Amino acid sequence: APEPDFGYLGDLNPAQREAVETFDGPVLMLAGAGTGKTKALISRIAHLILTHRAEPWQILAVTFTNKAAREMKQRIGAFLGGDAEGMPWLGTFHAICVKLLRRHAELAGLKSNFTILDTDDQIRLLKQVIAAADMDEKRWPARQLAGIIDGWKNRALTPERVTGAETAAFNNRGSELYAAYQARLRTLNAVDFGDLLLHMVTIFQAHPDVLALYQRRFKYILVDEYQDTNVAQYLWLRLLAQGHRNICCVGDDDQSIYGWRGAEVGNILRFEKDFPGAKVVRLEQNYRSTPHILAAASGLIARNESRLGKTLWTETEGGEKVRLFSYWDGEEEARAIGEEIEALQRGTRGQPPRGLDDIAILVRASHQMRAFEDRFLSIGLPYRVVGGPRFYERLEIRDAMAYFRLAVSPDDGLAFERVVNTPRRGLGDKAVQVIHQRARDGDLTMFMAARAVVAEKLISGKGLGQLRQFCEMIERWHEAVIAVPMPVFTEDDDGVLIEADTGAPETPGYDHIRLAEQILEESGYTAMWLADKTAEAPGRLENLKELVKALEQFDNLQGFLEHVALIMENESSESGEKVTIMTLHAAKGLEFPAVFLPGWEEGLFPSQRAMDETGQKGLEEERRLGYVGITRAEELCTISFAGNRRVYGQWQSQLPSRFIDELPAAHVEVQSAPGLYAGRQSRGYEGGFGGGGGSRLEARAAQADAYASPGWKRLQASGVQPGAAGASRPRAIRPSASEVPEFAIGERVFHQKFGYGEVIDAEADTMVIEFDKAGTKHVKSAFVRPADKAD
Ligand code: ATP
Ligand code: MG
Repeated sequence: APEPDFGYLGDLNPAQREAVETFDGPVLMLAGAGTGKTKALISRIAHLILTHRAEPWQILAVTFTNKAAREMKQRIGAFLGGDAEGMPWLGTFHAICVKLLRRHAELAGLKSNFTILDTDDQIRLLKQVIAAADMDEKRWPARQLAGIIDGWKNRALTPERVTGAETAAFNNRGSELYAAYQARLRTLNAVDFGDLLLHMVTIFQAHPDVLALYQRRFKYILVDEYQDTNVAQYLWLRLLAQGHRNICCVGDDDQSIYGWRGAEVGNILRFEKDFPGAKVVRLEQNYRSTPHILAAASGLIARNESRLGKTLWTETEGGEKVRLFSYWDGEEEARAIGEEIEALQRGTRGQPPRGLDDIAILVRASHQMRAFEDRFLSIGLPYRVVGGPRFYERLEIRDAMAYFRLAVSPDDGLAFERVVNTPRRGLGDKAVQVIHQRARDGDLTMFMAARAVVAEKLISGKGLGQLRQFCEMIERWHEAVIAVPMPVFTEDDDGVLIEADTGAPETPGYDHIRLAEQILEESGYTAMWLADKTAEAPGRLENLKELVKALEQFDNLQGFLEHVALIMENESSESGEKVTIMTLHAAKGLEFPAVFLPGWEEGLFPSQRAMDETGQKGLEEERRLGYVGITRAEELCTISFAGNRRVYGQWQSQLPSRFIDELPAAHVEVQSAPGLYAGRQSRGYEGGFGGGGGSRLEARAAQADAYASPGWKRLQASGVQPGAAGASRPRAIRPSASEVPEFAIGERVFHQKFGYGEVIDAEADTMVIEFDKAGTKHVKSAFVRPADKAD
């Protein structure tokens, strides 16, 4: 037979080759980002198979995400060509454990067709368990218990093994409820995610014969992203690896970012102790990023105290420094990054044009995605959200939108059903069935049927009063919405589209933002999440705030609902190149030619919550996340922050992230956006808002640029900040080919619907106007005229 082609070995450096060709015994590849750990791991798998050291089925490879597993399969498949029979076991810990547990379910008291509960099911079950234990679920929320139990499962603790101080958890009843919950799961023939590993570890420990089976079978075990394994995963691996001891783990202590989910970076640090005689391979050459990017990332991570420390170098030369931009607020950041991306597509600064697949936006918190999604939709820039639902698909956003839809059209049956019992108001399935029946009988909409059910007292008890209140609430909101007729458009003498005078009395219009806030409050929806003590509740509340913020871009609720309907439709269409939007956490292991890292602001990144909960440790994990972010970039890395974010309708000034200060100045270029802001002017500003400390020179310089941006003009015009008095007012940009006179920033104007106000900003065909009565709104310029021509 012809010698197989080992050409892939030629693509590796000596250290990588050593890791690939060390066939016997444990191997640890401990190295920084982009040094080719994953590449070496994949080559190792191919090499083991092609040199016949193992059959594919004797290899077990663990990845951190399903996506990584798919990619790895493809790459290995390409190496093997048609040569090899079958593929290795390759997947996440969870995926592999599902497979194993189906085979040995009976040893965990389950049938092999057990179901895997999602979080919602898990919570529902825990609620029952808490109620059965006569505890008040309001004081002792199920979600909190879920968090505690997940934590125990991550550490491979069965109920019996929960001891010591931890038995005090959840009013001293945590472990008892945990046991009850496990018993319920068993009766239901179900498991939750944490169980997958817990059951397998327990089975391996209690049944040496089963363990021996797999110890013999898996001649080679390989693990990527080893720094993020938790205790249960670690135990499971150690048990399996005790057979042949051919375990190869690769990782980077600087990229350990899942401590909050129970990952123990200590696992990687004690590898040599656990596996005496392990070969430790260190890789130092980075093949991914240009020198400036690498130096910026290394400078940042060097601030962490608890790390092994390592050097990284690259052979590549040149390339751009890491760029630092500052913006007025999140909307402007999204707009500017959208323009930057379009510029990359065209090819700028002597760079070749880039495809959208080459570009990623990595955010710290998922609520940051909303501004980008909205912006990209409106300029028609294709994007995909990876590793989580798109903003408008999230549970809390869909719920809130259902409420808004009811306010606009109470007869929206789907919306009605979605929220009639969310939050719980004692209107469960039975009540809904009665309403359905009434709707069918009388050919009514759900809302009308509900009114009939109330009038005819078709349900009893507390539910009746609750349903009445629910209907009344919707009516009240609806009245607010229809108090102002939707504008009717007509053409004026010059053929310009204007709002027709419908003869309706001039009202300031309903404040749809205020109404939205009112809806979320009155419905009890915000309160529901406030009362929720689980890890994800704060994120959901942030998303709700972000939703209200999104409304500011629209004149009314109707326009907003249409916009979202369009976004949702956009989803299914078109393949082709897309910008990737994802969280920093989800970006681990990936690489992109151009990476944008927005929102580097104190409190957002580093996240206030992480710092509050785990102090210095939390801060270091945030810094590692920053390191992960920067090292995803191959050629262009752009960091940005906004000087202001709007929280609950209040401007809040933001400080640039401390991580910006920590970037080595020699590798960062503080920039304004060239060409973005026509007519930008520098103002010799002394001190900034938010009081950026004197040490933050670079950030301050960057922030000074924010003052020259449209945001600065807006600020100046609105008179919020000192220093604006007497400044010459820049002319607002007028829509093209229009007969309407130009407006100046600060000029008094009149809008048919919202009345008098002052121009704050203008762009293309929209203007931002601070109305005397209706607040700040984005309106179409065509409907605005000078105040003295108001009639
Ligand atoms: P991370 O820590 O981010 O997961 P990693 O160490 O796993 O990074 P890889 O993703 O394997 O790094 O490799 C980074 C990039 O460098 C990839 O594009 C890969 O193809 C390339 N690369 C790796 N090793 C070599 C090599 N010896 N020669 C040329 N390119 C290489
Ligand atoms: Mg990798």
